[in-house]
Amino acid sequence: MSHVFHRSLTQSYPTAVRGDGPYLIDSQGKRYLDASGGAAVSCLGHSDAGVIEAIREQVGTLAYAHTSFFTSEPMEALADFLIERAPQGLESVYFVSGGSEAVEAALKLARQYFVEIGQPQRRHVIARRQSYHGNTLGALAAGGNAWRRQQFQPLLIDVSHVSPCYAYREQRADETPEALGMRLAAELEAEILNLGAENVMAFIAEPVVGATLGAVPAVPGYFKRVREVCDRHGVLLILDEVMCGMGRTGSLFAAEQEGISADLITVAKGLGAGYQPIGATLVSGRIVDAIRQGSGFFQHGHTYIGHATACAAALAVQKTIEERQLLARVSELGAGLRARLQERFGDHPHVGDLRGRGLFQGVELVRERASKEPFDPALKLHAKLKKAAMARGLMCYPMGGTLDGRRGDHILLAPPFILEETHLDELVDKLDAALRSAL
Ligand code: PLP
Repeated sequence: MSHVFHRSLTQSYPTAVRGDGPYLIDSQGKRYLDASGGAAVSCLGHSDAGVIEAIREQVGTLAYAHTSFFTSEPMEALADFLIERAPQGLESVYFVSGGSEAVEAALKLARQYFVEIGQPQRRHVIARRQSYHGNTLGALAAGGNAWRRQQFQPLLIDVSHVSPCYAYREQRADETPEALGMRLAAELEAEILNLGAENVMAFIAEPVVGATLGAVPAVPGYFKRVREVCDRHGVLLILDEVMCGMGRTGSLFAAEQEGISADLITVAKGLGAGYQPIGATLVSGRIVDAIRQGSGFFQHGHTYIGHATACAAALAVQKTIEERQLLARVSELGAGLRARLQERFGDHPHVGDLRGRGLFQGVELVRERASKEPFDPALKLHAKLKKAAMARGLMCYPMGGTLDGRRGDHILLAPPFILEETHLDELVDKLDAALRSAL
């Protein structure tokens, strides 16, 4: 019997023993095509020689130095790399060990900023329903996934949730995408005014919603309007790019495609590509300046922030992506994947929607296309699908999201940027077979 407290205590897992490009191999020698990057993590696959060598070198030179005593070369170099390429106004990087920590740091930075500038009454956070920002208490409070929050509700800070920009279900029959964006930005503004603008600290949103909806990008213009609303009321904008950032949608930051910047951007998953655990919060100059000119100290800090080996790994990952021009490849492969999905599932009776950007694609499953009625949650379709896919040597990420209390099923695809066209065929064939067996 395993002494590991596994994610599920009722399920058994194959033992992963080796990585080979876009494949993971288990102890029985079975190969799994990683079509979800785990959960949008492994953007360089599982055996990149350059990244492995960079880790080896760093660990052999300086594995770790506590950041209350030292800075380190890889941490400085990674911060420079990110800021040189980040949207306008972002000037500093706070390194952590994963996505939830990056969101916690962003929320606390927002709060400390307002305390430092003499607006301590600003404490309200607004987020969106059907969002996911992590599982630590602050990040969980921000997220709008009812199922994840349910039993922890008494421990969560009060966060208001407004509608997500989820065109498939939110757009009215008589509404253009632009009008939907305007309506949802107006809903945000109404919530700010309802709370009293002087009390609101931040609005947090994923530019492309990942875990809870399955790769849902906003309609054109939505984020520009959101930025205007936030600016009008002095509310900080936090973009959570933990899943959709670091090239996943075809640009290094997803915000670039919205034509906006943010006061804080969180990244993780693709930053270290799974070679080391690392996340980061990119912080705008005005927040850094306020803290520098105020207390001079961010009241936070974990033991492993700025871990030298994790930073060296992430720098090697990001340089590899740039040197091999993989962002262009993400767009190309993304278009190829989308075309194949469209061809195979465009008329499928249980596929309600195909959406996404770059190598971040989602398939929404419905009981009936015309009514968009989701499957009965009791069917646990997402669990069946995952099992069927794994049996066929495919890792994909089926999830039961929440649709205002009901469950809705979707499949998230976020494969490595190093795929060949033949892998796309294999992916769609295996997904098709898994769907046939589960539905
Ligand atoms: N934010 C978003 C948008 C995510 O998708 C996730 C994880 O899926 C997180 C935060 C939390 O990241 P982690 O699981 O690394 O703590």
